[in-house]
Amino acid sequence: MKAVFITGHGGNEVVQVKERSLLARASGQVRVRMQAATLNQVDLYMRNSGAGITHRLPQIMGLDGAGIIEECDANDPLLRPGQAVVIHPGIACGRCEFCQRGDGVLCTRIQFLGEHCDGTFARTIQVPATQVFPKPEHLNWAEAAALGVNHLTAWRMLFTKARLQAWDTVLIFGIGGGVSLAALQLAQAIGARVIVTSREDSKLERARALGAAHGINSQSQDVAKEVLKLTDGRGVDVVFENVGEAVWSAALKSLVRGGRLVTCGATSGDHPSADLRRIFIRQLQIFGSTLGTLGEFHDLLGFVERMGIRPIIDSSYPLEEIHAALSRLESGAHFGKVALEMEGKTVK
Ligand SMILES: [Zn+2]
Repeated sequence: MKAVFITGHGGNEVVQVKERSLLARASGQVRVRMQAATLNQVDLYMRNSGAGITHRLPQIMGLDGAGIIEECDANDPLLRPGQAVVIHPGIACGRCEFCQRGDGVLCTRIQFLGEHCDGTFARTIQVPATQVFPKPEHLNWAEAAALGVNHLTAWRMLFTKARLQAWDTVLIFGIGGGVSLAALQLAQAIGARVIVTSREDSKLERARALGAAHGINSQSQDVAKEVLKLTDGRGVDVVFENVGEAVWSAALKSLVRGGRLVTCGATSGDHPSADLRRIFIRQLQIFGSTLGTLGEFHDLLGFVERMGIRPIIDSSYPLEEIHAALSRLESGAHFGKVALEMEGKTVK
């Protein structure tokens, strides 16, 4: 069985495609013949350092994915061999107080595929049966794989945390990345007005073609000023961001009184000035969020199917070309997801 391993920490030289023998399937687990997976920023983080995440080397990379069930328990009530499924990457313990409350993504013992244990960049994986869900039929394999991290993360941020409504305006920073594009698609599907930012006009143009009402060039324009102009001096109801320090001040200044800011990342740094006076006087609400629960994934899949949402795929590479795929993600030039095709086909 071929898979992509991190064998150390550093650049692409520590990422190797190697063979590993198949392990016997334990009861309660499913064996999935993977068809596609997509790359996430955390894959680069695991390659570069993986600091703060307990893991062993070598470890198989990859969080999300989609494939076909090869083997499952004969008496499984829902699953059968041959079924097309998508993977939820967070394996919760089911026993701690957070799991008991139904918020498994806060689990104190949660294991993320590709972070704490072997991941999805492999021809075959084995995961607990709880982690697989029927694949939406209208999606190809790479599109389906993309739901497991990006769209799930955006779903929890927008709807569970920030409680986005159809009459709200939402500001999404850094359009082009997978999670911000997922947020654009989900917010637009419920009818919310979406303003996006990017340092590149071409990405703003593509976002407008996907339904964004306005694009702000964060390189050449003052984002908060433009937001106030676009909202008649009011500000937006929700800010969605994963950039961190570089945009924090503009993010807070763009919010309406009582507005909600939700963050899932800090790629530009994680210690911005807090601006506490603004937070309490204007009664702003700030939410942190990571991934989503099994229940949220279930709801997301139903929504995606009903609304006909298709994740944006930037490019696809065969498993063997993982270095080129990682470099594409690292370049920041991508618009949408960089995908891996496990059977060796290249789409674009
Ligand atoms: Zn737990």
